[in-house]
Amino acid sequence: MPTTPPKDLAPDALGPTITIGEILVEIMADDRGNGFLQPIALTGPYPSGAPAIFIDQCARLGGAAGIIASVGADDFGRINVERLRADGADVSAISVSPDYPTGSAFVRYRHDGNRDFVFNIAQSAAARIGLDASARALIARAGHLHVMGTAFAIPGAWEIIEHAIGVVRTRGGTVSFDPNLRKELLGQPLTQQRFQKLVDISDLILPSGEELFVAAGCEGEVAAVQALLARNTSEIVLKRGAHGSTFFGAAGQRFECPAFAVEEVDPTGAGDCFGGAYVACRRLGVPVEQALLYANAAGARNVIFRGPMEGAGTRLQLDAFIDSTPRRAS
Ligand code: ATP
Ligand code: MG
Repeated sequence: MPTTPPKDLAPDALGPTITIGEILVEIMADDRGNGFLQPIALTGPYPSGAPAIFIDQCARLGGAAGIIASVGADDFGRINVERLRADGADVSAISVSPDYPTGSAFVRYRHDGNRDFVFNIAQSAAARIGLDASARALIARAGHLHVMGTAFAIPGAWEIIEHAIGVVRTRGGTVSFDPNLRKELLGQPLTQQRFQKLVDISDLILPSGEELFVAAGCEGEVAAVQALLARNTSEIVLKRGAHGSTFFGAAGQRFECPAFAVEEVDPTGAGDCFGGAYVACRRLGVPVEQALLYANAAGARNVIFRGPMEGAGTRLQLDAFIDSTPRRAS
């Protein structure tokens, strides 16, 4: 197996990892069942939103981290901003909308593991982000941009992403892309074009399941990985849920990371924690195989906690988790 190390992501010292997108609260049904058609016991609000979970994990691990997002002038906004601040993220580019409430998601798990949601995102502060002065200031000092597919659903996000790509690249920074977006959105030609642009310019892509094929435009794991590596990407990290993950490098490297054997309580946020830990580790100079181990630990640790970012771990917590948790056979 070739041993050439992959091209590094820009070091943490260049400036924070930044991401853009929705901040939400999540309110969860205590018991499994179908939907919300009768009064049921709920627990929440939990801080949430894919980019928020990503950046929180990044910060908890000791990576410099910041987010461009918007919340309402309400407790749902405050619980999020205070969590991110307490965990060490730069919250200076989280704007507070005077007119719209913080985004929310009510979620109930069904017995088969599927979920029913009631979202308030499009009509909430979460959809009101723009390239304001505080966003520009954060971008101006960023060292790495992480784009999450969920941002494609937010009208003002693309302008910010494009600006950030230009600035971060000029500074010698790097870009990663987690293509987790709703498939229906890709039916729109403009979204498809923007999605492909991100696939083309990203140094690191972190797909899960079908997203690999959607990003590559072809079926079959080997073919899809080769197609992506033939573009500009230098590393692909494929998330496999309870089956762990695989790293593919541009020089043909492949590392498997078997999953930790945990009892899944709440799967929401695993992929976001995985990404936050992986990017933070790589930017802090952790070698690929060890970064992959931390990322698997971050994803697995998060699924044993109720709440989308409650299980995001510090380096010490992840070290303890790695030492004490058995691995599944790969
Ligand atoms: P999400 O479901 O949050 O969108 P995703 O589909 O992007 O996440 P997953 O593959 O579900 O990502 O999870 C990311 C990583 O977290 C996995 O690669 C694995 O390392 C870990 N993980 C997730 N679920 C489990 C589990 N049930 N047991 C062990 N590890 C898990
Ligand atoms: Mg998943």
